Amino acid sequence: MNEADSEEMLLHLFGFGYQQTTVLNEADLVLINTCTIRDHAEHRALSYLGRLEKWKGEKQDRKIIFAGCAAERLGKAVKKRFPQADIVCGAKSLEKFPTILENSSLFKPLNVKIVPEDENKKITAQVSIMRGCSCKCSYCIVPYVRGEAQSIPPEIILENCRIKSKKSPEIMLLGQTVNAYNYKGFTFTKLLEEVCKIPEVKRVRFLSPHPVFIKDDFYKVVQDNKKIARHLHLPLQSGSTKVLKDMKRLYTAEEYYNIVKNLKQLGFLISTDIIVGYPTETDEDFKQTLNLVKKCGFSFAYCFKFSPRAGTPAAELKEIAQEMVENRLNILLNEIRECSSLAYKSRIGQKEEVLFETKNSGRTSGNLWYRTAAAKEAGSLEEILIKESDGKILK
Ligand code: SAH
Ligand code: SF4
Repeated sequence: MNEADSEEMLLHLFGFGYQQTTVLNEADLVLINTCTIRDHAEHRALSYLGRLEKWKGEKQDRKIIFAGCAAERLGKAVKKRFPQADIVCGAKSLEKFPTILENSSLFKPLNVKIVPEDENKKITAQVSIMRGCSCKCSYCIVPYVRGEAQSIPPEIILENCRIKSKKSPEIMLLGQTVNAYNYKGFTFTKLLEEVCKIPEVKRVRFLSPHPVFIKDDFYKVVQDNKKIARHLHLPLQSGSTKVLKDMKRLYTAEEYYNIVKNLKQLGFLISTDIIVGYPTETDEDFKQTLNLVKKCGFSFAYCFKFSPRAGTPAAELKEIAQEMVENRLNILLNEIRECSSLAYKSRIGQKEEVLFETKNSGRTSGNLWYRTAAAKEAGSLEEILIKESDGKILK
């Protein structure tokens, strides 16, 4: 999601004559697009900003923009502590970014649009379909820094998909609760159908779906549209219904498992997000998470230690001992490694549709990596018989 926002901000900066570089010493401007979901992410962004003081002092006219969720949360305090930041632009102001640039009088607009070279090579194009989030998960800062959920008009999304699919055969639709998309009755499943109708689109993915918004119409649309990837990144957070309730996730462990069963019947692989060490998580709750992880057989998972975010209800609760959290996290990571290895090995002898991202590697519809010595064309889609796997890659 942040990547998509960065892309949007970059396009505006191209309009001011900037070109992209990843070499700091070549740059005249640094754009730091920040995340504040966990304390660690915010900390890293701020310490990078701190280090840039020296870089800025080395040459006249160097500029720094500090944007995104941490900028939203910290606001004016950033400018006060780090005067080297020329512009601080919070996540809620992303739409006003071009006006903020113009009003700052630091930049003069050019009337040309420079498309970055990298854009030509991207296999997956990200398209935001929603902004913000209206769920109120007890641990999460997103609704506070990004605001209420807002669906983008479908005409804009579809036009964006049409343009981007000319270069990128895979479209990734983005939103915090992407499947809650609804623009004046135009639903997420309708949007999926319309995106699939674009001839240049070879594959469609989306991130992050919320279990509570998966309904029967979703299964139907998936069955009717082979372009929809057979992979879902479906955040679980906890395998204990009690903890899920405390987290205000709005589903039970059993309901989550039923969705996984339905999706697996349709040939899906599922990956997930899990939070370890939520303040009310007991050993028994953690065991339930482990059991559910085994039952679901996730192909992959991001596992996070609970990070208290000021202003969220969960930040008021007493944290559990860090040692215990570390211990649980390690056990979980081992389990996930095993599940992931099994997911890879289960594809041996199967035919998989691979979308090549380089001439030697690509991803299957189920989002597993495939590699071959034969030279393929990046962007091509091929049906491949999987001969072997070491549990980390298909061959
Ligand atoms: N909207 C998505 C997730 C967005 S945030 C959803 O609801 O599933 C990405 C992930 O960060 C979450 O799934 C969660 O696992 C993790 N996360 C969010 N807040 C967190 C916190 N305070 N501590 C630890 N992990 C957190
Ligand atoms: Fe955060 Fe919950 Fe919204 Fe996801 S659904 S962004 S976890 S509040």
